[in-house]
Amino acid sequence: MKELKARILADGQCLPGGVLKVDGFINHQMDPTLMKTMAEELVRRFADSEINKILTVEASGIAPAIMVGYLLNLPVVFAKKKQPSTMSDVWVTEVFSFTKQHTCTLCVGREFLQPDDKVLFVDDFLANGHASMAFMELIKQAGAELVGMGFLIEKSFQKGGTLLRNSGIHVESLAIIESLDNCEIKFKE
Ligand code: 5GP
Repeated sequence: MKELKARILADGQCLPGGVLKVDGFINHQMDPTLMKTMAEELVRRFADSEINKILTVEASGIAPAIMVGYLLNLPVVFAKKKQPSTMSDVWVTEVFSFTKQHTCTLCVGREFLQPDDKVLFVDDFLANGHASMAFMELIKQAGAELVGMGFLIEKSFQKGGTLLRNSGIHVESLAIIESLDNCEIKFKE
């Protein structure tokens, strides 16, 4: 998506270890106009899919997911990274966080993810696919159906995209970064 690629080139920063910092428009300060344009594009790409729920993970997946949910008039559920004491009946799994480099819990209340759900998973980044795989596990526990996965930014030099696509999942990414070597942002054509 050309608007996102232009913004990444203008305001994105490369950090060591293959990390792209987009705190000026996605991960800290957010640009609602760009977020809406990105959500519209995700909606367009999944137009042929039957979806009844959007799933994401706190915190940075919430903004794109709620925009998609708003456009489709569908509920949005975000997995929590800590199980609150008020929540006992949950689907739960573990996930390794790429940016924080540690493992944490992911949980979703069972009442919000049920066997008849057709789920679109939305997140900001696809890197090694740990978050996505953890969601596949939660969706499997619930007996729900995964319809597809939509990301704002995919880093194709990490293995998540290949892993998910090889498992037959409909994956859409709005900007695919092929390399961040020498702090130069190179997009896949
Ligand atoms: P994965 O689970 O696919 O390895 O990593 C995806 C998650 O890690 C995303 O939810 C995102 O929050 C975070 N992440 C992965 N790579 C990057 C990156 O380059 N920049 C930022 N800001 N977050 C990333």
